[in-house]
Amino acid sequence: MTFNVEKIRQDFPILQRKVNGYPLVYFDNAATSQKPQAVIDCMVDYYSHYNANIHRGVHTLSQEATDAYEAARRKIQKHFQILHPEEVIFTSGTTHGINLVAHGFANFLKKGDEVLVSALEHHSNIVPWQMLCEKTGAILKVIPMNEAGELVMDAFEALLSEKTQLVFINHVSNALGTINPIAEIIDKAHAKGAAVLVDGAQSCAHEKPNLAELDVDFYVTSAHKMCGPTGVGILYGKKQWLEKLPPYQGGGEMIKEVTFEKTTYAELPHKFEAGTPNICGGIAFGAAVDYLNSIGFDEIEAYEKELLHYATQELLKIEGLKIYGTSKKKTSVVSFNIKDIHPYDIGTIVDKLGIAVRTGHHCAQPVMQFYKIPGTVRASFSFYNTKEEIDKLVEAVKKAKSMLS
Ligand SMILES: *Cc1c(COP(=O)(O)O)cnc(C)c1O
Repeated sequence: MTFNVEKIRQDFPILQRKVNGYPLVYFDNAATSQKPQAVIDCMVDYYSHYNANIHRGVHTLSQEATDAYEAARRKIQKHFQILHPEEVIFTSGTTHGINLVAHGFANFLKKGDEVLVSALEHHSNIVPWQMLCEKTGAILKVIPMNEAGELVMDAFEALLSEKTQLVFINHVSNALGTINPIAEIIDKAHAKGAAVLVDGAQSCAHEKPNLAELDVDFYVTSAHKMCGPTGVGILYGKKQWLEKLPPYQGGGEMIKEVTFEKTTYAELPHKFEAGTPNICGGIAFGAAVDYLNSIGFDEIEAYEKELLHYATQELLKIEGLKIYGTSKKKTSVVSFNIKDIHPYDIGTIVDKLGIAVRTGHHCAQPVMQFYKIPGTVRASFSFYNTKEEIDKLVEAVKKAKSMLS
């Protein structure tokens, strides 16, 4: 199959709309992706034809909804190459998954234990661990980054010790697009007996991870970054870990038997799925995975790499423009500033021309502190973007520059 971007664009109704009188150019894919018709149809179909609560009713609708939800779980299991379906916990998203694990680890950490996070983390992968360390007396240590926006692997190895219990790392930095060497990090951490949680929120729209091969202990992601709806995601955990971790929330669905004296918990995955879940979202997450696979991750990666190279080359022609995050291994994200101009001002002007970019710290203030900048303009590309759209961005940035300097 050849990659036909014009045909793919027809799958995304939002790409037909205009913003401020201009055709929408959507370059904020790292914040959330747009949704193809197949995912939208799946959600409309669920609410139009078989909306019901799951795992409870004997009636037909409830059985249909349960079957669709569990089929989505298996689809997601297969996509991420997870060994057992009960290792796939539906969550409300990456943040929820991280908090669930951090909450549980309070039982396993003691004073003086060490937890490593990377300097490239999203706030949602920093704050829960700080809270955990406050609660347990464990110590949070930071794997430093270099000017290119890469982790300093020697420093990581020097930080690892018998005291290290956990390492938390994103696969791809949302602020810079750096792809971290997670396989190496997992191996080195395991050699010291530490567990590893990988935040895959920013990578799984661009590549298909093989979690069985990676041998990672925990992996979290959000559907909305990969063409699915908001408010749903997964936590993968190795069965041994999930069996040891205590439940995060109490409620319906997660129990085996309740009396006022004692409650016993349900088997995996239900132990971590208290209350009525995002049923429609889970089913639509499955539809999003199907959609992405129908395009093919090899094709997506190759095309997005082209977009990245083109955008980098064209943007760097603008005098005074600096790109942050220059690792050789990057997803299709360009984070930049123009000398003496505030990123917010650039974002506002390009929006007037219909172009959506992100400005600010991108929920990664420590990365901005490293570069001593308040923020950046971030253009993040998806497989439904085009070189023509990048040309429009370059023109718009030039215009903003001439207006602001
Ligand atoms: C988006 C993102 C998150 C947070 O995801 P939510 O869906 O908001 O929970 C965490 N980490 C990274 C790297 C992200 O890109």
